[in-house]
Order: sequence, then structure tokens, then C-alpha cells
Amino acid sequence: MNKRAVYPGTFDPVTYGHLDIIERISGLYDNVFVAVARSEEKGPLFSAEERVFMLKEAVKPYKNVEVEYFDGLIVDYAKEKSAKVVIRGLRMISDFEYEFQMALTNRKLNPEIETVFMMPKESYSYLSSRLIKEVADLGADVSDFVPPDVAEKLKGKIKR
Ligand code: ADP
Repeated sequence: MNKRAVYPGTFDPVTYGHLDIIERISGLYDNVFVAVARSEEKGPLFSAEERVFMLKEAVKPYKNVEVEYFDGLIVDYAKEKSAKVVIRGLRMISDFEYEFQMALTNRKLNPEIETVFMMPKESYSYLSSRLIKEVADLGADVSDFVPPDVAEKLKGKIKR
């Protein structure tokens, strides 16, 4: 059986934490679909097009990974892709409560789809897109946290 997984998120922007998870799942599943939620209501810094573009560049080394937009329910998107697994990254215990609620809600919506949690390398376990945007805005060098083209784009976005 072809094992497929979906990895959803906002990815505003993609970080080395996300890429660590993508590398791990690309070794475990035959096909991985990274699903970029448009999340306009969250007021993202980067448009959905920019987020997809940056991710596509970053996942080029992984031949079994595709990047797409998605709107609507993740369980519906997974079904459309014939994937039975939704991957989420767990960093700190603080991620747990929300992720636990979401996983159980998704199970209720579609019991055939499982949520699988992955932990990144320790050195990425404190990284979040939100914090990276905040420190970049204050002038920090974020090249240890995001790929070089993303760091450049962050500089371009932030008007100082
Ligand atoms: P969302 O907006 O859906 O919370 P994000 O774009 O922030 O999503 O992240 C997508 C997924 O990647 C989530 O499961 C999140 O927990 C996970 N993630 C984000 N940053 C990291 C990181 N540094 N290490 C591991 N997982 C991460």
C-alpha cells in the first residue's frame, strides 16, 4: 500500500523546525503533501503564494514531498489525497493542549484519519514562525532559523 501523509500548517514563513519535521516524514512515508492553509483570518505576513513558493524551494531535496494550498477541513483534504495520516509537530508541552483538542476533533470528523505527532531536533524545539517574525522585526539575524532566501524575504518585508 502506498503510504501517504499530509503535513498542514500556516508556514508564515517556513522555518528549519518545519523542515526538520518534513525531512523525518519524507523518510517514513511514500508521499508527503505539505498543505499550506491560506489562513487569511490570521493576517499572515506572507501571502499564501509567497508561503507556498518558499516551501517549494525548501523541499526541493525531498523528491516525495509536494506543496499545495488548502482551504477547508484538513480531514477532507487528507481524504482527497488518499492519506490516512495527518502529521503535526510537537515542540513544547505548551503545544499539547491545542494539538490534543484538534486531533480528537479531527478523529470525530473522520475516524479513519490518524494524527501522528513528531518531535523536532532539540535545537529547533523552541522555534516558531511567530517568534522569528518578532525578532526579525527588531533587527535580529535569523539565518540560523530559516533558509537564506526566507531570511532575505523577511528583511524585505520588515520596514524599518
Ligand atoms: P499552525 O499555524 O497550524 O499552528 P504552523 O505553520 O505554525 O502551524 O506549524 C505547522 C506545524 O508545524 C504545526 O504542527 C506546528 O506545531 C509544527 N511546528 C512549527 N514549528 C515547529 C518546530 N520548530 N519544530 C517542530 N514542529 C514545528
